[in-house]
Amino acid sequence: MTGPDILVIGGGIAGLSAASALASRARVIVLEAEEQIGFHSSGRSATMLHYALGDRLVRALTLASRPFFDDPPAGFTDTPLGQRMPVLVHGREDERAALDELEAELNAFATLERLDSAGVRDLCPLLREDAVHGIADRDSIRLDPHALLQGHVRQLKRSGGRLVTGFRVAEIIRSGREWTVASEQGERFTASIIVNAAGSWADVVAAMAGVAPLGLEPKRRTIITFDAPAGIALDGLPFAKTVGDELYFAPESGRLFASPMDEGPSEPCDAQPDEYDVALAAHRMEERTTVRVERIHSRWAGLRTFTPDRHPAVGFASDAEGFFWLAGQGGFGLQTSPAMAKIAVSLIAGEPWPSPEVEPAALSPGRFVGGAA
Ligand SMILES: Cc1cc2nc3c(=O)[nH]c(=O)nc-3n(C[C@H](O)[C@H](O)[C@H](O)COP(=O)(O)OP(=O)(O)OC[C@H]3O[C@@H](n4cnc5c(N)ncnc54)[C@H](O)[C@@H]3O)c2cc1C
Repeated sequence: MTGPDILVIGGGIAGLSAASALASRARVIVLEAEEQIGFHSSGRSATMLHYALGDRLVRALTLASRPFFDDPPAGFTDTPLGQRMPVLVHGREDERAALDELEAELNAFATLERLDSAGVRDLCPLLREDAVHGIADRDSIRLDPHALLQGHVRQLKRSGGRLVTGFRVAEIIRSGREWTVASEQGERFTASIIVNAAGSWADVVAAMAGVAPLGLEPKRRTIITFDAPAGIALDGLPFAKTVGDELYFAPESGRLFASPMDEGPSEPCDAQPDEYDVALAAHRMEERTTVRVERIHSRWAGLRTFTPDRHPAVGFASDAEGFFWLAGQGGFGLQTSPAMAKIAVSLIAGEPWPSPEVEPAALSPGRFVGGAA
């Protein structure tokens, strides 16, 4: 690549991971609306890497991303990008078939242990007696999103790239082969390529550029934190998830966190927790475990933004030259970011497809707007 200027809109994990990888080949500027990076979805997640999320394609992207987290590039970070945490997917007797099915799917991606009732309780003493089946992956990772985002910023800057915060793109103008992007305050940048990594706002950004939307759907997810029962050793507790999308919980800075795995539809916004979902998290925690949620210590919500088929979209728009989509990372945007960034670089640089385990057509934004991108 000879070095076209690239503007990346969005300073979440999608935008920063692509920008840091692109910066060694082109002059890259990341434009982030907020004063701090990772303010929206990337700073509000459950921070897990695990294979019970999504489907086969998401698992394949996760597996392809794993080496980056285990062995980051030299100089990327001073601290590990995460810590080992076991993942336990558990079920009652009536959920056995669903657990069997999941186990068969996950076997291709992780080394699993099948647990009986005693094994389930041994790994997670907090679960109720009716959790009689489990599958455990003892090699999962609780990611450190701060280290991850900061590592990308460091790599971006080291390669001569820039991060501009407090720059909310308000207008996008096409003239000739160039895109000019203007902030609410009228500051401008011009480049031949725009990477749309605006998370929940990616369709809004596309509309500014006159590009057809993908039909992205932001969905709110809520997390609460609360005290663990006295005498319970939090170290060694797993990220524990029901086989259906009902509840997950895990240790969190000396407490526990839990989510009712809600998916309330939302506009793109600074998501706030809904009282109903907060109460549902506490209720489901008490239903599935022996923990009493006496006092909720903190609560937050974030948006998980999906394309209509729940696979991410990466590639040039078919209806506007130089407009590149990097959107729809749903509930798996952290754990798939290294593979997604590699794919973005290969498509922008015109290099061979880097992920043989994934069909390019399955990720092409063109699948939503007619005609391959
Ligand atoms: C509760 C919860 C739990 C989750 N758990 C996990 C998990 O365990 N594992 C996992 O891998 N993923 C998880 N996720 C999903 C993950 O957080 C997302 O997939 C990921 O953060 C999406 O990254 P992003 O960069 O696309 O979006 P964002 O982080 O939202 O970044 C987009 C950025 O674009 C900026 N922007 C928008 N419009 C403009 C504009 N006009 N001008 C300039 N900037 C703009 C925004 O300010 C924002 O910072 C979870 C998410 C939530 C909410």
